[in-house]
Amino acid sequence: MGKPTGFLEQDRELPKKRDPKKRINDYNEVDSAIDESITQKQAARCMDCGIPFCHQGCPLGNIIPEFNDAVYQENWKLAYEILISTNNFPEFTGRICPAPCEASCVLGINKPAVAIEYIEKSIIEKAFADGYATPRIPSVRSDKKIAVVGSGPSGLAAAAQLNYAGHHVTVFERADEIGGLLRYGIPDFKLDKQILDRRINLMIKEGVKFQTNVNVGETLSVDQLKEDFDAVLLCGGSTIPRDLPIPGRNLKGVYFAMDFLTQQNLRVAGKKVQIEEVWATGKNVVVIGGGDTGSDCVGTSNRHGAKSVTQIEILNKPQKIETKPCRGQVGQ
Ligand SMILES: Cc1cc2nc3c(=O)[nH]c(=O)nc-3n(C[C@H](O)[C@H](O)[C@H](O)COP(=O)(O)OP(=O)(O)OC[C@H]3O[C@@H](n4cnc5c(N)ncnc54)[C@H](O)[C@@H]3O)c2cc1C
Ligand code: SF4
Repeated sequence: MGKPTGFLEQDRELPKKRDPKKRINDYNEVDSAIDESITQKQAARCMDCGIPFCHQGCPLGNIIPEFNDAVYQENWKLAYEILISTNNFPEFTGRICPAPCEASCVLGINKPAVAIEYIEKSIIEKAFADGYATPRIPSVRSDKKIAVVGSGPSGLAAAAQLNYAGHHVTVFERADEIGGLLRYGIPDFKLDKQILDRRINLMIKEGVKFQTNVNVGETLSVDQLKEDFDAVLLCGGSTIPRDLPIPGRNLKGVYFAMDFLTQQNLRVAGKKVQIEEVWATGKNVVVIGGGDTGSDCVGTSNRHGAKSVTQIEILNKPQKIETKPCRGQVGQ
């Protein structure tokens, strides 16, 4: 444990997000750049609990108190090694994970939780900036060939792990680019696509092969896949939206979120939108649903220049707490 009294001396603090008035004019990330001195002070707040509930809170089982301590000791490289021992893509989770670890943080019982997600993002961004986030190429290769169908976070994580185990991995993606919803769902203001490209380039150097514009079951038959590979892993996600079958559902101007969000990601990437274009510009917009997807629709509508945006949510309105751990919920 770095500083036994850190949690008593230091409040939760994060670098300020970009000014809402400015950020609605672009699709750059809402968060400001990391600030190492802030990260180090935040890491000092970790109490190194006897039973660290954050381990269980994190779906990846990240070893959080240990990397917090390494950051506090300014041993960033060690923090990076600890972090990547459980997390393939800290640069994604450090930006868009809802951070259940912070909801499990013991300090959160009577003070704002340790800023775990921000510390995680700082560790990986520093590793890339300082050049030690390098390809991890397996020293021994098996003779097994594995096809991964789908290149969203599940396909990418599976491909990375299978590659580290020495297998020959090819990822097939039906879209024109790799990333699944990281690419064509989550807006750039939450996850800049350069962050995704940086990771894909690293994976290519590690030996993972990627093939885009391949729709398994259509342009590439399952029989062919089974013939060419020893194992096939299905990571196709879901493209079936949850409908709301109520009167008026079929009226003009009612869309699924993905009809709206995907095309904006295409525009930001400088690509043509080949379906009916949906713009919120000058419109009174109602977003039904207050989760990540809903908040992405709010943020995108604001950037389009909507006349008004109203969000409807079945649950209670979240409390307005400056230091609230969960990200991506309010005010993008
Ligand atoms: C708008 C939006 C915002 C979100 N925000 C967040 C957030 O802030 N935080 C968070 O934790 N989660 C968020 N999520 C949820 C998160 O994006 C998903 O849980 C995650 O992407 C699922 O990963 P996946 O790999 O299973 O599927 P996907 O990301 O959907 O990837 C599946 C991929 O498989 C491909 N595929 C499917 N069938 C085939 C085939 N036959 N051949 C070839 N390729 C195929 C698809 O084209 C796709 O690229 C958000 C989701 C949406 C829609
Ligand atoms: S932010 Fe998400 S991935 Fe990162 S430690 Fe917390 S729960 Fe785990």
